[in-house]
Amino acid sequence: MGELDLVVGARRVITGAGTVARRIGVAGGRIAAIVPYDQELRGARELTLADDEVLLPGLVDTHVHVNEPGRTDWEGFATATRAAAAGGVTTLVDMPLNSIPPTVDTAALDVKRKAAEGQCAVDVGFWGGAVPGNLPALRGLHDAGVFGFKCFLLHAGVDEFPHLRPDELEQALRELVSFDALMIVHAEDSTAIDHAPSCHGERYRDFLASRPRGAENTAIAQVIELARWTGARVHILHLSSSDALPMIASARRDGVRITAETCPHYLTLCAEEIPDGATQYKCCPPIREADNRELLWRGLADGIIDCVVSDHSPCTPELKRFDIGDFGVAWGGIASLQLGLPAVWTEARRRGFALGDLVRWMAWRPAELAGFARKGRIALGYDADFAVVAPDAAFVVDPAALHHRNPVTPYQGRALAGVVRSTWLRGEQVDAATPHGRLLRRGES
Ligand SMILES: [Zn+2]
Repeated sequence: MGELDLVVGARRVITGAGTVARRIGVAGGRIAAIVPYDQELRGARELTLADDEVLLPGLVDTHVHVNEPGRTDWEGFATATRAAAAGGVTTLVDMPLNSIPPTVDTAALDVKRKAAEGQCAVDVGFWGGAVPGNLPALRGLHDAGVFGFKCFLLHAGVDEFPHLRPDELEQALRELVSFDALMIVHAEDSTAIDHAPSCHGERYRDFLASRPRGAENTAIAQVIELARWTGARVHILHLSSSDALPMIASARRDGVRITAETCPHYLTLCAEEIPDGATQYKCCPPIREADNRELLWRGLADGIIDCVVSDHSPCTPELKRFDIGDFGVAWGGIASLQLGLPAVWTEARRRGFALGDLVRWMAWRPAELAGFARKGRIALGYDADFAVVAPDAAFVVDPAALHHRNPVTPYQGRALAGVVRSTWLRGEQVDAATPHGRLLRRGES
Protein backbone atom coordinates (compact mmCIF):
# COMPACT_ATOMS: atom_id res chain seq x y z
CA MET A 1 0.00 0.00 0.00
CA GLY A 2 1.34 3.44 -0.96
CA GLU A 3 1.42 6.49 1.25
CA LEU A 4 -1.99 7.44 2.66
CA ASP A 5 -2.94 11.12 2.60
CA LEU A 6 -5.41 10.83 5.44
CA VAL A 7 -6.53 8.28 8.01
CA VAL A 8 -9.89 8.71 9.73
CA GLY A 9 -10.57 6.63 12.82
CA ALA A 10 -14.03 6.25 14.32
CA ARG A 11 -15.64 3.86 16.77
CA ARG A 12 -18.84 4.13 14.74
CA VAL A 13 -18.62 4.09 10.94
CA ILE A 14 -21.77 3.47 8.88
CA THR A 15 -20.84 0.92 6.21
CA GLY A 16 -22.63 -1.73 4.21
CA ALA A 17 -21.72 -4.14 7.01
CA GLY A 18 -23.56 -2.02 9.58
CA THR A 19 -22.09 0.22 12.27
CA VAL A 20 -18.49 -0.78 12.85
CA ALA A 21 -15.29 0.56 14.44
CA ARG A 22 -12.81 1.25 11.65
CA ARG A 23 -9.86 3.24 10.41
CA ILE A 24 -10.32 4.53 6.87
CA GLY A 25 -7.27 5.25 4.72
CA VAL A 26 -7.57 7.82 1.95
CA ALA A 27 -5.25 8.15 -1.05
CA GLY A 28 -5.81 10.36 -4.08
CA GLY A 29 -9.25 11.39 -2.79
CA ARG A 30 -10.54 7.80 -2.66
CA ILE A 31 -10.98 5.24 0.10
CA ALA A 32 -7.89 3.04 -0.21
CA ALA A 33 -7.96 1.05 3.04
CA ILE A 34 -10.49 0.01 5.66
CA VAL A 35 -9.12 -1.76 8.73
CA PRO A 36 -10.39 -2.58 12.23
CA TYR A 37 -10.18 0.38 14.59
CA ASP A 38 -7.57 -1.31 16.76
CA GLN A 39 -5.24 -1.91 13.84
CA GLU A 40 -2.54 0.64 13.12
CA LEU A 41 -2.82 2.68 9.93
CA ARG A 42 -0.54 5.62 9.22
CA GLY A 43 -1.32 8.61 7.05
CA ALA A 44 0.17 12.04 6.35
CA ARG A 45 -2.78 13.42 8.36
CA GLU A 46 -4.87 11.65 10.95
CA LEU A 47 -8.32 12.41 12.27
CA THR A 48 -9.86 10.56 15.19
CA LEU A 49 -13.54 11.16 15.82
CA ALA A 50 -14.77 12.04 19.31
CA ASP A 51 -16.74 9.39 21.17
CA ASP A 52 -20.04 11.14 20.43
CA GLU A 53 -19.36 11.31 16.68
CA VAL A 54 -20.25 8.92 13.86
CA LEU A 55 -18.65 8.76 10.41
CA LEU A 56 -21.25 8.73 7.62
CA PRO A 57 -20.73 8.76 3.89
CA GLY A 58 -21.38 12.27 2.57
CA LEU A 59 -25.05 12.53 1.68
CA VAL A 60 -26.20 12.62 -1.95
CA ASP A 61 -29.06 15.03 -2.61
CA THR A 62 -30.46 14.41 -6.07
CA HIS A 63 -33.19 17.05 -5.84
CA VAL A 64 -31.85 20.60 -5.54
CA HIS A 65 -32.98 23.73 -7.38
CA VAL A 66 -29.90 25.94 -7.51
CA ASN A 67 -31.55 28.55 -9.81
CA GLU A 68 -28.30 30.05 -11.19
CA PRO A 69 -28.08 31.71 -13.65
CA GLY A 70 -31.28 33.68 -14.05
CA ARG A 71 -32.70 33.52 -10.54
CA THR A 72 -29.50 33.74 -8.55
CA ASP A 73 -31.25 36.04 -6.08
CA TRP A 74 -33.26 32.93 -5.07
CA GLU A 75 -30.16 30.73 -4.69
CA GLY A 76 -26.84 30.21 -6.41
CA PHE A 77 -24.08 27.63 -6.68
CA ALA A 78 -21.86 29.23 -4.00
CA THR A 79 -24.60 29.52 -1.39
CA ALA A 80 -26.33 26.24 -2.21
CA THR A 81 -23.15 24.20 -2.07
CA ARG A 82 -22.00 25.86 1.19
CA ALA A 83 -25.39 25.03 2.70
CA ALA A 84 -25.05 21.47 1.38
CA ALA A 85 -21.65 21.07 3.01
CA ALA A 86 -22.92 22.47 6.31
CA GLY A 87 -25.66 19.84 6.15
CA GLY A 88 -23.34 16.90 5.45
CA VAL A 89 -24.25 16.73 1.74
CA THR A 90 -21.20 16.20 -0.50
CA THR A 91 -22.94 15.62 -3.85
CA LEU A 92 -25.98 17.35 -5.24
CA VAL A 93 -27.76 17.11 -8.56
CA ASP A 94 -29.26 20.34 -9.84
CA MET A 95 -32.78 20.45 -11.26
CA PRO A 96 -33.22 21.72 -14.83
CA LEU A 97 -35.74 24.42 -14.00
CA ASN A 98 -35.96 27.73 -12.18
CA SER A 99 -32.61 28.73 -13.63
CA ILE A 100 -32.72 30.73 -16.85
CA PRO A 101 -32.07 29.12 -19.21
CA PRO A 102 -33.65 25.84 -18.11
CA THR A 103 -31.42 22.83 -18.89
CA VAL A 104 -33.29 21.63 -21.98
CA ASP A 105 -30.44 21.49 -24.52
CA THR A 106 -26.67 21.23 -24.50
CA ALA A 107 -26.18 24.98 -24.98
CA ALA A 108 -28.13 25.61 -21.78
CA LEU A 109 -26.16 22.90 -19.98
CA ASP A 110 -22.95 24.67 -21.01
CA VAL A 111 -24.31 27.95 -19.63
CA LYS A 112 -25.09 26.29 -16.31
CA ARG A 113 -21.71 24.58 -16.10
CA LYS A 114 -19.95 27.88 -16.76
CA ALA A 115 -22.03 29.55 -14.05
CA ALA A 116 -21.16 26.81 -11.57
CA GLU A 117 -17.49 26.43 -12.44
CA GLY A 118 -15.09 27.34 -9.65
CA GLN A 119 -17.66 28.25 -7.01
CA CYS A 120 -18.95 24.89 -5.75
CA ALA A 121 -18.05 23.71 -2.25
CA VAL A 122 -19.33 20.18 -3.01
CA ASP A 123 -19.66 18.07 -6.15
CA VAL A 124 -22.50 19.00 -8.51
CA GLY A 125 -24.21 17.10 -11.29
CA PHE A 126 -27.07 18.15 -13.54
CA TRP A 127 -30.43 16.76 -14.56
CA GLY A 128 -31.70 17.60 -18.03
CA GLY A 129 -35.26 18.67 -18.77
CA ALA A 130 -37.87 17.08 -21.05
CA VAL A 131 -40.28 19.71 -22.38
CA PRO A 132 -42.57 19.86 -25.42
CA GLY A 133 -40.48 20.07 -28.57
CA ASN A 134 -37.05 19.14 -27.19
CA LEU A 135 -37.19 15.41 -28.02
CA PRO A 136 -34.29 15.76 -30.51
CA ALA A 137 -32.12 17.38 -27.79
CA LEU A 138 -32.43 14.57 -25.23
CA ARG A 139 -29.75 12.27 -26.64
CA GLY A 140 -27.28 15.16 -26.87
CA LEU A 141 -27.89 16.09 -23.25
CA HIS A 142 -27.43 12.45 -22.22
CA ASP A 143 -24.13 12.27 -24.10
CA ALA A 144 -23.07 15.57 -22.51
CA GLY A 145 -23.38 13.94 -19.09
CA VAL A 146 -26.75 14.75 -17.52
CA PHE A 147 -27.90 12.07 -15.07
CA GLY A 148 -31.42 11.77 -16.47
CA PHE A 149 -34.39 13.95 -17.36
CA LYS A 150 -37.07 15.73 -15.43
CA CYS A 151 -40.56 16.48 -16.65
CA PHE A 152 -43.74 17.97 -15.24
CA LEU A 153 -47.29 16.82 -15.90
CA LEU A 154 -48.80 20.19 -14.96
CA HIS A 155 -47.72 23.82 -14.96
CA ALA A 156 -44.29 23.98 -13.34
CA GLY A 157 -44.73 27.38 -11.72
CA VAL A 158 -42.35 28.97 -14.24
CA ASP A 159 -43.39 29.55 -17.84
CA GLU A 160 -40.06 28.70 -19.47
CA PHE A 161 -40.34 25.02 -18.47
CA PRO A 162 -43.66 23.82 -19.97
CA HIS A 163 -45.14 20.46 -18.99
CA LEU A 164 -45.66 17.34 -21.09
CA ARG A 165 -49.05 16.01 -22.08
CA PRO A 166 -49.47 12.24 -21.58
CA ASP A 167 -48.81 11.52 -25.28
CA GLU A 168 -45.67 13.68 -25.15
CA LEU A 169 -44.50 11.85 -22.03
CA GLU A 170 -44.95 8.55 -23.87
CA GLN A 171 -42.85 9.83 -26.80
CA ALA A 172 -40.16 11.07 -24.44
CA LEU A 173 -40.06 7.72 -22.61
CA ARG A 174 -39.73 5.85 -25.92
CA GLU A 175 -36.78 8.08 -26.77
CA LEU A 176 -35.15 7.65 -23.33
CA VAL A 177 -35.52 3.88 -23.33
CA SER A 178 -33.39 3.75 -26.50
CA PHE A 179 -30.38 4.84 -24.45
CA ASP A 180 -31.67 3.61 -21.06
CA ALA A 181 -31.91 7.04 -19.47
CA LEU A 182 -34.00 7.78 -16.39
CA MET A 183 -37.11 9.99 -16.42
CA ILE A 184 -37.90 11.71 -13.13
CA VAL A 185 -41.44 13.02 -12.90
CA HIS A 186 -43.27 15.72 -10.99
CA ALA A 187 -46.43 13.65 -10.76
CA GLU A 188 -49.52 15.79 -10.24
CA ASP A 189 -52.25 15.57 -12.85
CA SER A 190 -53.03 18.83 -14.62
CA THR A 191 -56.72 18.10 -15.21
CA ALA A 192 -57.28 16.95 -11.64
CA ILE A 193 -55.71 20.15 -10.31
CA ASP A 194 -57.82 22.23 -12.72
CA HIS A 195 -60.96 20.62 -11.31
CA ALA A 196 -59.94 21.03 -7.68
CA PRO A 197 -61.11 24.13 -5.79
CA SER A 198 -58.87 27.04 -6.68
CA CYS A 199 -56.84 28.41 -3.80
CA HIS A 200 -56.64 31.93 -2.50
CA GLY A 201 -56.34 33.26 1.01
CA GLU A 202 -54.62 32.38 4.23
CA ARG A 203 -56.20 29.08 5.18
CA TYR A 204 -53.86 26.12 4.83
CA ARG A 205 -56.75 23.72 4.50
CA ASP A 206 -57.93 25.55 1.37
CA PHE A 207 -54.49 25.20 -0.14
CA LEU A 208 -54.44 21.49 0.72
CA ALA A 209 -57.86 21.04 -0.95
CA SER A 210 -56.50 22.70 -4.09
CA ARG A 211 -53.76 20.04 -4.43
CA PRO A 212 -55.67 16.82 -3.60
CA ARG A 213 -54.11 13.39 -3.21
CA GLY A 214 -56.17 12.29 -6.19
CA ALA A 215 -54.12 14.54 -8.48
CA GLU A 216 -50.96 12.77 -7.39
CA ASN A 217 -52.53 9.32 -7.47
CA THR A 218 -53.89 9.83 -11.01
CA ALA A 219 -50.57 11.09 -12.34
CA ILE A 220 -48.59 8.28 -10.72
CA ALA A 221 -50.99 5.68 -12.14
CA GLN A 222 -50.42 7.19 -15.57
CA VAL A 223 -46.63 7.22 -15.20
CA ILE A 224 -46.72 3.58 -14.11
CA GLU A 225 -48.70 2.51 -17.18
CA LEU A 226 -46.47 4.49 -19.56
CA ALA A 227 -43.40 2.92 -17.97
CA ARG A 228 -45.02 -0.49 -18.33
CA TRP A 229 -45.78 0.06 -22.05
CA THR A 230 -42.44 1.57 -22.94
CA GLY A 231 -40.07 -0.31 -20.61
CA ALA A 232 -38.53 3.01 -19.57
CA ARG A 233 -37.03 3.68 -16.14
CA VAL A 234 -39.09 6.22 -14.18
CA HIS A 235 -38.77 7.87 -10.79
CA ILE A 236 -41.53 9.59 -8.82
CA LEU A 237 -40.30 12.87 -7.34
CA HIS A 238 -41.33 14.22 -3.93
CA LEU A 239 -44.03 11.66 -3.17
CA SER A 240 -46.55 13.19 -0.78
CA SER A 241 -49.71 11.07 -1.20
CA SER A 242 -49.31 7.79 0.70
CA ASP A 243 -52.29 6.43 -1.28
CA ALA A 244 -49.89 5.81 -4.16
CA LEU A 245 -47.63 3.42 -2.22
CA PRO A 246 -49.61 0.24 -3.00
CA MET A 247 -49.68 1.16 -6.71
CA ILE A 248 -45.93 1.65 -6.79
CA ALA A 249 -45.35 -1.62 -4.93
CA SER A 250 -47.68 -3.49 -7.25
CA ALA A 251 -46.04 -2.04 -10.37
CA ARG A 252 -42.64 -3.11 -9.08
CA ARG A 253 -43.87 -6.65 -8.47
CA ASP A 254 -44.91 -6.65 -12.12
CA GLY A 255 -41.40 -5.65 -13.17
CA VAL A 256 -42.10 -2.00 -13.95
CA ARG A 257 -38.86 -0.08 -13.45
CA ILE A 258 -40.05 2.55 -10.99
CA THR A 259 -38.50 4.18 -7.93
CA ALA A 260 -39.75 6.90 -5.61
CA GLU A 261 -38.48 9.57 -3.27
CA THR A 262 -40.01 11.67 -0.55
CA CYS A 263 -38.70 14.76 1.23
CA PRO A 264 -37.90 15.80 4.80
CA HIS A 265 -40.93 18.11 5.03
CA TYR A 266 -43.42 15.34 4.20
CA LEU A 267 -41.85 13.16 6.90
CA THR A 268 -41.50 15.74 9.64
CA LEU A 269 -44.31 18.30 9.27
CA CYS A 270 -48.08 17.88 9.03
CA ALA A 271 -51.04 19.89 7.79
CA GLU A 272 -52.75 19.99 11.18
CA GLU A 273 -49.89 22.01 12.65
CA ILE A 274 -49.43 24.55 9.86
CA PRO A 275 -50.70 27.98 10.93
CA ASP A 276 -52.89 29.89 8.51
CA GLY A 277 -50.90 32.43 6.53
CA ALA A 278 -47.62 30.52 7.10
CA THR A 279 -46.58 30.35 3.47
CA GLN A 280 -43.07 29.14 4.36
CA TYR A 281 -44.83 25.74 4.50
CA LYS A 282 -46.18 25.99 0.94
CA CYS A 283 -44.81 23.44 -1.48
CA CYS A 284 -46.25 21.30 -4.28
CA PRO A 285 -47.40 18.63 -3.77
CA PRO A 286 -48.40 19.87 -0.33
CA ILE A 287 -47.56 18.69 3.17
CA ARG A 288 -50.52 16.48 4.10
CA GLU A 289 -52.12 15.12 7.27
CA ALA A 290 -50.31 13.40 10.16
CA ASP A 291 -51.77 9.97 9.32
CA ASN A 292 -50.48 10.34 5.75
CA ARG A 293 -47.03 11.19 7.14
CA GLU A 294 -46.98 7.99 9.20
CA LEU A 295 -47.81 5.95 6.09
CA LEU A 296 -44.88 7.57 4.27
CA TRP A 297 -42.61 6.37 7.09
CA ARG A 298 -44.11 2.91 6.61
CA GLY A 299 -43.31 3.19 2.90
CA LEU A 300 -39.69 3.89 3.77
CA ALA A 301 -39.56 0.96 6.18
CA ASP A 302 -41.04 -1.31 3.50
CA GLY A 303 -38.57 -0.08 0.88
CA ILE A 304 -41.31 1.21 -1.43
CA ILE A 305 -39.85 4.70 -1.06
CA ASP A 306 -36.18 4.52 -2.01
CA CYS A 307 -34.79 7.95 -1.21
CA VAL A 308 -35.21 11.00 0.97
CA VAL A 309 -33.96 14.14 -0.79
CA SER A 310 -34.52 17.79 -0.03
CA ASP A 311 -36.37 19.27 -3.02
CA HIS A 312 -34.52 22.40 -1.92
CA SER A 313 -36.61 25.02 -3.73
CA PRO A 314 -35.79 28.45 -2.36
CA CYS A 315 -37.05 31.89 -3.29
CA THR A 316 -36.77 35.41 -1.92
CA PRO A 317 -38.82 36.24 1.21
CA GLU A 318 -40.86 38.70 -0.89
CA LEU A 319 -42.15 35.86 -3.09
CA LYS A 320 -43.49 34.05 -0.03
CA ARG A 321 -45.83 37.05 0.42
CA PHE A 322 -45.66 37.12 4.19
CA ASP A 323 -47.28 40.56 3.93
CA ILE A 324 -50.62 38.94 2.99
CA GLY A 325 -50.00 35.26 3.82
CA ASP A 326 -51.92 34.17 0.73
CA PHE A 327 -51.26 30.53 -0.22
CA GLY A 328 -52.67 31.15 -3.69
CA VAL A 329 -50.03 33.68 -4.71
CA ALA A 330 -46.99 32.72 -2.59
CA TRP A 331 -44.17 30.81 -4.30
CA GLY A 332 -44.33 27.09 -3.52
CA GLY A 333 -41.09 25.59 -2.34
CA ILE A 334 -39.21 24.71 0.83
CA ALA A 335 -35.50 25.36 1.30
CA SER A 336 -33.95 22.62 3.45
CA LEU A 337 -30.65 21.60 1.89
CA GLN A 338 -28.73 22.32 5.10
CA LEU A 339 -31.36 20.77 7.40
CA GLY A 340 -32.35 17.50 5.75
CA LEU A 341 -30.12 15.28 7.85
CA PRO A 342 -31.13 16.57 11.30
CA ALA A 343 -34.80 16.98 10.32
CA VAL A 344 -35.07 13.38 9.12
CA TRP A 345 -32.88 11.96 11.88
CA THR A 346 -34.91 13.66 14.64
CA GLU A 347 -38.09 11.97 13.44
CA ALA A 348 -36.50 8.72 12.28
CA ARG A 349 -34.95 7.83 15.61
CA ARG A 350 -38.22 8.61 17.39
CA ARG A 351 -39.74 5.87 15.21
CA GLY A 352 -37.00 3.33 15.93
CA PHE A 353 -34.90 3.74 12.78
CA ALA A 354 -31.09 3.71 12.90
CA LEU A 355 -28.47 5.93 11.27
CA GLY A 356 -27.86 3.13 8.77
CA ASP A 357 -31.44 3.58 7.55
CA LEU A 358 -30.90 7.31 7.08
CA VAL A 359 -27.69 6.61 5.15
CA ARG A 360 -29.58 4.20 2.90
CA TRP A 361 -32.30 6.77 2.16
CA MET A 362 -30.06 9.85 1.88
CA ALA A 363 -26.78 8.53 0.44
CA TRP A 364 -26.73 4.98 -0.99
CA ARG A 365 -30.05 4.93 -2.82
CA PRO A 366 -29.89 8.47 -4.25
CA ALA A 367 -26.37 7.68 -5.52
CA GLU A 368 -27.68 4.51 -7.17
CA LEU A 369 -30.65 6.38 -8.61
CA ALA A 370 -28.43 8.90 -10.37
CA GLY A 371 -25.89 6.25 -11.33
CA PHE A 372 -22.93 7.44 -9.24
CA ALA A 373 -20.50 4.55 -9.05
CA ARG A 374 -18.21 6.12 -6.40
CA LYS A 375 -20.59 8.13 -4.21
CA GLY A 376 -22.82 7.44 -1.23
CA ARG A 377 -20.90 4.66 0.55
CA ILE A 378 -17.91 4.15 2.77
CA ALA A 379 -16.32 1.32 0.82
CA LEU A 380 -13.04 0.62 -0.96
CA GLY A 381 -12.63 2.60 -4.17
CA TYR A 382 -15.37 5.10 -3.33
CA ASP A 383 -14.70 8.83 -3.08
CA ALA A 384 -13.59 9.82 0.41
CA ASP A 385 -16.71 11.93 1.03
CA PHE A 386 -17.66 11.98 4.70
CA ALA A 387 -19.98 13.66 7.15
CA VAL A 388 -18.88 13.69 10.79
CA VAL A 389 -22.12 13.73 12.76
CA ALA A 390 -22.93 13.89 16.47
CA PRO A 391 -26.31 12.12 16.40
CA ASP A 392 -27.25 12.84 20.02
CA ALA A 393 -26.26 16.51 20.00
CA ALA A 394 -29.14 18.91 19.44
CA PHE A 395 -29.64 22.46 18.25
CA VAL A 396 -32.44 24.92 17.61
CA VAL A 397 -32.84 26.03 14.00
CA ASP A 398 -31.76 29.65 13.67
CA PRO A 399 -32.29 30.99 10.15
CA ALA A 400 -29.26 33.28 10.64
CA ALA A 401 -27.06 30.17 10.89
CA LEU A 402 -28.17 28.85 7.48
CA HIS A 403 -25.99 29.31 4.40
CA HIS A 404 -29.01 29.34 2.07
CA ARG A 405 -29.09 32.66 0.23
CA ASN A 406 -32.59 33.30 1.61
CA PRO A 407 -32.90 31.74 5.04
CA VAL A 408 -36.68 31.35 4.93
CA THR A 409 -37.53 28.06 6.61
CA PRO A 410 -40.52 26.29 8.18
CA TYR A 411 -38.03 24.66 10.57
CA GLN A 412 -37.29 27.97 12.32
CA GLY A 413 -37.23 27.45 16.09
CA ARG A 414 -37.47 23.66 15.92
CA ALA A 415 -35.15 21.63 18.12
CA LEU A 416 -33.38 19.02 15.99
CA ALA A 417 -31.02 16.17 16.83
CA GLY A 418 -27.93 15.48 14.73
CA VAL A 419 -25.18 18.07 14.48
CA VAL A 420 -22.87 17.95 11.45
CA ARG A 421 -19.44 18.68 12.91
CA SER A 422 -17.45 18.56 9.65
CA THR A 423 -17.80 17.53 6.02
CA TRP A 424 -15.09 16.01 3.84
CA LEU A 425 -14.95 15.95 0.06
CA ARG A 426 -12.48 13.57 -1.58
CA GLY A 427 -10.38 13.58 1.57
CA GLU A 428 -10.33 17.36 2.09
CA GLN A 429 -12.29 19.09 4.82
CA VAL A 430 -14.79 21.45 3.22
CA ASP A 431 -14.43 25.06 4.27
CA ALA A 432 -16.24 28.13 3.04
CA ALA A 433 -13.11 29.76 1.60
CA THR A 434 -11.90 27.20 -0.93
CA PRO A 435 -14.42 25.62 -3.30
CA HIS A 436 -13.09 22.16 -4.23
CA GLY A 437 -16.31 20.82 -5.73
CA ARG A 438 -16.25 19.27 -9.18
CA LEU A 439 -18.86 19.29 -11.88
CA LEU A 440 -19.87 15.68 -12.42
CA ARG A 441 -20.83 13.89 -15.62
CA ARG A 442 -22.78 10.68 -15.94
CA GLY A 443 -20.49 7.68 -16.18
CA GLU A 444 -17.46 9.47 -14.75
CA SER A 445 -18.24 9.68 -11.04
ZN1 LIG B 1 -38.32 20.17 -7.15
